[in-house]
Formats: sequence, structure tokens, C-alpha cells
Amino acid sequence: MILQIALDTPLRRVFDYRPPATLPGEANPAPQLGVRVRVPFGRRQLIGILVGITGESAIDSGKLKSALAILDQQPIVDSVTFDLLRWAAQYYHHPLGEVFAAALPVSLREGQPTQHGTEWWSVSDSGRQELSSPSDRRAPQQRAMLAWLAQRGSVSLDDLDETFKPAHLRALAVRGWVTPQTQTAGAASEETPGVVVPDTAASAVSLTEHQAESVAAILATLPGFAAHLLYGVTGSGKTEVYLRVIAAAIAAGGQALVLVPEIALTPQLVERFRRRFSAGVVAVHSGLTGVERRDAWRAAHNGEARIVIGTRSAVFTSLPKLALIVVDEEHDASYKQHEGFRYSARDLAVVRAQRAGVPVVLGSATPSLETLENAATGRYSKLRLPHRPGAAQAPQMSLVDLRKHGGDQGLSTPAMQSMARHLKAGGQVIVFLNRRGYAPSLFCNACGWVAPCEHCDARMTLHRRAQQLRCHHCGAHGAVPVICGKCAQPLNPVGQGTERVEETLARLFPGAPLARLDRDTASARGAVQSVLERVHSGEARILVGTQMLTKGHHFPEVTLVVILDADQGLFASDFRATERLAQTITQVAGRAGRELRPGEVLIQTEFPEHPLLNRLLTEGYEGFAVSALEERREAGWPPYSRLAMLRAEAKDSAALDAFLRAAADASARLKDAAIKVLGPASALIARRADHFRAHLLIETVARSGLQRFLKDWLPLVERLPGPPGLRWSIDVDPLEVD
Ligand code: ADP
Ligand code: ZN
Ligand code: ZN
Repeated sequence: MILQIALDTPLRRVFDYRPPATLPGEANPAPQLGVRVRVPFGRRQLIGILVGITGESAIDSGKLKSALAILDQQPIVDSVTFDLLRWAAQYYHHPLGEVFAAALPVSLREGQPTQHGTEWWSVSDSGRQELSSPSDRRAPQQRAMLAWLAQRGSVSLDDLDETFKPAHLRALAVRGWVTPQTQTAGAASEETPGVVVPDTAASAVSLTEHQAESVAAILATLPGFAAHLLYGVTGSGKTEVYLRVIAAAIAAGGQALVLVPEIALTPQLVERFRRRFSAGVVAVHSGLTGVERRDAWRAAHNGEARIVIGTRSAVFTSLPKLALIVVDEEHDASYKQHEGFRYSARDLAVVRAQRAGVPVVLGSATPSLETLENAATGRYSKLRLPHRPGAAQAPQMSLVDLRKHGGDQGLSTPAMQSMARHLKAGGQVIVFLNRRGYAPSLFCNACGWVAPCEHCDARMTLHRRAQQLRCHHCGAHGAVPVICGKCAQPLNPVGQGTERVEETLARLFPGAPLARLDRDTASARGAVQSVLERVHSGEARILVGTQMLTKGHHFPEVTLVVILDADQGLFASDFRATERLAQTITQVAGRAGRELRPGEVLIQTEFPEHPLLNRLLTEGYEGFAVSALEERREAGWPPYSRLAMLRAEAKDSAALDAFLRAAADASARLKDAAIKVLGPASALIARRADHFRAHLLIETVARSGLQRFLKDWLPLVERLPGPPGLRWSIDVDPLEVD
């Protein structure tokens, strides 16, 4: 019997091992796929996942090493998730071991038991070897403990005393001399009732007609796979629909998975779930400590957690009783992992639902064009929430022509007047600008010099409060020069960042307390929470911020939204730039007038006649989407074609180019007529952190064609010689192509 183990290494293969040696008389049942196995790897020990058992290995049997220990009796994830991970590794052409590593909390990767309760430890094979032939004369205490443990068979932490402390046990574990044992009896199999009591007062809200129809349509597909697009304008009550269908789906003991773009930015959402369901709601996100993360994972795995709310990687949470998946704000770019294992959690949620045979609800006010196309072709059902409930109205949107209206530091006169009016009437105001820092460049009027980043093809951003120039691409920072590096004349900050806008607003509206939300103000723990609280309590009257403002916030008193600069995305080269701009504008605008007070939105632009802006104003996102899809069809972009990108970077630009050309040549040799390989082309930021960056774009109209091609092509690319320090990666269904 040969064990095939997926190990967390960048190699695109699994590793063969013999099963661990057994003691005489000890039975050795075949392990189940999906258990963790500790193996020797070079001079280290690694923990991997058993992904296959075969009879023979390509490796000479004399060279085949034995695994050290099998850590689990049961697979560490439910069977659908196990298959999903293997499928994802194939689809995204990423090493399986790294895929598992991305899915599991660190503590599990390090070998901690998958169940809580008592942790049992016993002597491992290498521990037994150590006892019979000590390799190390030091650490007598540890060996004494090992002997004691070998005598007892196994111990739990409770069995330890003054002589043998938990720290000693951990030291033994680090050496691989003991292994934890999962107590699967009890915890995993026994049904934890996980009291879920819907809060009756909250559920007494009577649904609007459209909400009721959506709920009924989703519940009609239960149980069984179906994908639903819940297309509801901002503030239309999508969350209420989620809550209702989840209550029904888990009533019979099932579990629900809710994916959200960013939990730190939407604490309200988790709160709403906690209020509605009295128990069993678990949030998983990057802010958790290792222990919290492990406990959340265990609660999901053993069924105690009935509702798991999490960001991107939560799509891999082990949920043996999964009954429903919700993906909130499905269009959000944060569902796509941008480095390493480049998966789309939104897309994987649909695959997972399909494999688990459960419904998935994709909710958004601004669905991605891919999802709209899936709804148009009938693959997804389309459920509409066209209005806000009750008296709340869609906000009134208008354009402000920046060429006609002068202003003060990027704020036009009409915008200032509107702000004054709304503030006077007791409303709150949001000012949106998707650029943090004080000013995007530091400029010499005399000779035209602009402070550059020395490591990137980019300018430094001035951060005035921090007294620094910072590069937003590589993180480089330095002191702020006072005079021009070339001609010694004084330098001027040019353009607007949120920090500068905050300064301007403080001067213009001295009586209105300000709050700012961007990555600079949100970096400290709890900072986001306190900014949001200042807005909710009404203390802050003006909220300035970036993209972070678009994420589903519900501020009842906001009546005016000013978009300072709509033009950033209008002429960008990426084919998704206009889609992103339309989504951003619609989402920010959607923060205005969400309850009783009517909302107003002002969009400042130098191109008021631009068709995109006009269509968005007259026909809304829906009208925009129709014409945007038409353009995509004509140009042959997704969703009417499939893309993959081979990105590479190296310090030597000529060698980088040669590598990509060789990769393109290798693709030509495959003679796949359906595949177009475009490039090499330089990345938008052609040099970042002293590395040149370029890519090939692979395009085809058939999905399976792309998969087949990548499967044949990537092994050829892997064998190409590259310059030292070359790094490359494949991105299937890339979100950004420049
Ligand atoms: P979305 O998720 O679509 O942006 P929310 O679910 O946050 O919208 O709902 C917006 C507001 O409308 C919330 O204050 C919510 O409590 C309220 N709401 C939702 N459904 C109803 C309803 N059926 N009747 C009255 N108010 C509702
Ligand atoms: Zn100068
Ligand atoms: Zn830089």
C-alpha cells in the first residue's frame, strides 16, 4: 500500500510514502482519504493530506520513505469540501498541497486535533525509535516523559502534573515524538442540537411582495441544487431574504454558509444574524486569533455552528450538514484571491452548492456581468427586489461638470452648496474619493519633476500627517523632500487624496465633525469599528472615504453622497474598468436616503457627456449592464470568452521577455486552433519593487478547451529555463488583465 500525500510545497505533484510502521500485533486499517499524515520531507517533517492510495509508485521501492504517523481517523473536512479542494486545484492549476494549506487553519496544519475536548497524545513511531536508540543525549527530561508516556499508552493534558508539564508535551510534539489523537467518538457523530431560535419580534417584519416571492422561489428549490441571483437595488432588503431562507434551510438541522466581502467593514451584518438566531452563528475572518479560528473551524466541522459567516476562504469551511450557501455582494472583487492560489470564492461557492446538492443565493445590487449572463441564459434564476421597502426612495443622482464649476481643492461650488444645505437640514454627508493619502504626487512647478518611487514605475503619494512619501505599489517610503531634486525649487502637492479632502472639508465646514475611512485610518485594530460608530451615533456629520465606503453600510441619516472624481475608471485600459466604475458609483450612491429622508447623489466629472455616466443616470445599473454586455459580446471578452493569464516577473527585463516568448512558442507547438495567446505585454505598472512585470493572455471561447490547453501547456512552461529570480504564476479567470 502506497500513500499519496499532498504537501504544502510549490511542486505540482503529490508525494508517495509507505504507511507508518506498526507494532507487532497492531492492526493497520487502511486510512481514509482526507486524513492528515505526518511525513519526513528532506530534513524536515511535514503534515500533509492523504489524497490517494495506490498499489505501486514510480519511485524505487527502496527509496520510498515511510510516513511517521496518521493523525486522524476521520477525514478532516466533509467529503464535498474534500472534492471541491481537489477540483479547485485542477481548475486553477495550483499545487494541491498549497490548496489544502489555504483552506485549513494553521493549527490544523500543525497537527492539532480536529475536535475539541480532551486532547490525547501517544508516542509516535519516531518516538519509539528514539526510545530504543536515542539520537540525542541531551533533553533527559523529555526522554523520561517519553518513556512514561510509552508505558501509559496515551495521556491527555489532564493527566499531566508537576513533573510532566504541558510544555514538555509540546516539546515532544515539536520533535515529532508524540502525536495527538482525535477523539472522534462523541463530538463528531453526536448531533449537537445547536439551539436556533429565530427571534420572533424581528421576523415579524412583514416581507414586501418581492421579498416574499424571492423567499418562496428559493425555498421551492430546497433541498437540491439551484443557483439564484438575488438582484435587489441598494437598501431593498436582501439581508432579510437571506435571513428567512436560512431559517428555513437550517430548521431541519442543516448548516448555512454566508460569504461576505469584508467582515470588519460590516459588523452590522453579523450582528443582525446574531440577533435573529440565538445560537450557532460563527464568524470567520482574518481578524481572528489562531485559537479563535481553530475553534470556529471545529464548531463548523462538528455541526455546532449552524451558520458560518466568513470572507473568501470560508468557502472551504468543513460543513458536513451544509443546506444553503449565500454569497452577499457577489460582484465584489475581494472574492478573488489575487496571489498564490488564485481562486474565486464566488465561483467555488456555486461549484460547492452543485456538488452538495443545495441552493446558492448570489445577492447584489450591481451583479457582475458574468452572473447577469448566467441569469440571462437561465443557468441561474433571477429574483428581483426593484424597490426599497416602506417609504425609502432611490436617491436622486446628478452630474456636476467640473469644467464649468470652479471650486476649492477638488470640491465644486454646487457640491459645497449641497453639502451646506444637507448638513443644515440635519442630514449626514458622505464624500467619496478612491485615493488615499494627501496628494497623489509632489510636483515641481519650475521644471516638471515629480517625486518617483525608486523601485517602481510609479509616483510617490504624499502622506502629510505621517510626514512621508509612500509608494502604494511596493510599500517603499521616505522623508518628504522640501525642494526639487533637480532644480532646487520648492515642491507642491498636486491632486487630491482623502487626507487632503478631510483638511479642506474641516476648513469649509468647521461646525461639522468629520470621520475618515480608508486603509490608513483603518489599520489599527478596532479603528473601523470606531469610525463606523461615530457615524451611526450621529456624532460625525461628514464621512470621507475610499472604496471601503461602498461595502453595504446602512447609515439611516445619510442624505447626500458626493463622488469627487468619477473619471478615474472612464478611460482605463482594463476591459472590466467600466463595470467596476458603474458598480462603485451605484454602491456609493446607494448609501444615501436608505430610510425616511430622501437621498441625493452628486457625481463630479470632467466628462459629463460620457455615455457610461449618462446611461447610469438615466437607466441605472441595469441599463448600463445591458449595453456593457453587448460591448463584451462584440469584443469577445468574458463572459463570451474564457481567459487565463500567465504573469511573470524578473529583475532583468530582457530575460523576462525571452521567458514569456519561449512560453508563447511552446503554446504554438501545441497547435490548438481554438486558443489565442496574446503578448508578451508589460503590466500596467511595468516595474514594481525592482522587478519587471509582464504577461501572456490566453483566450478561448470554450471553457473545457482552456482547461485542456493549460494542462498540456503548463508542464512545458515549467521546464523552460528562466532567469534567476524569475517568478511566474497562472491566473484562471483573471479579474484584472493589465
Ligand atoms: P440590502 O441588504 O438590500 O442593502 P437591507 O437588508 O440592509 O438591504 O435592508 C435595508 C433596510 O430595510 C434595513 O433597515 C431593513 O431593516 C429594512 N427592511 C428590510 N426588509 C423590510 C421589510 N420587509 N419591511 C420594512 N423594512 C424592511
Ligand atoms: Zn524642479
Ligand atoms: Zn514602489
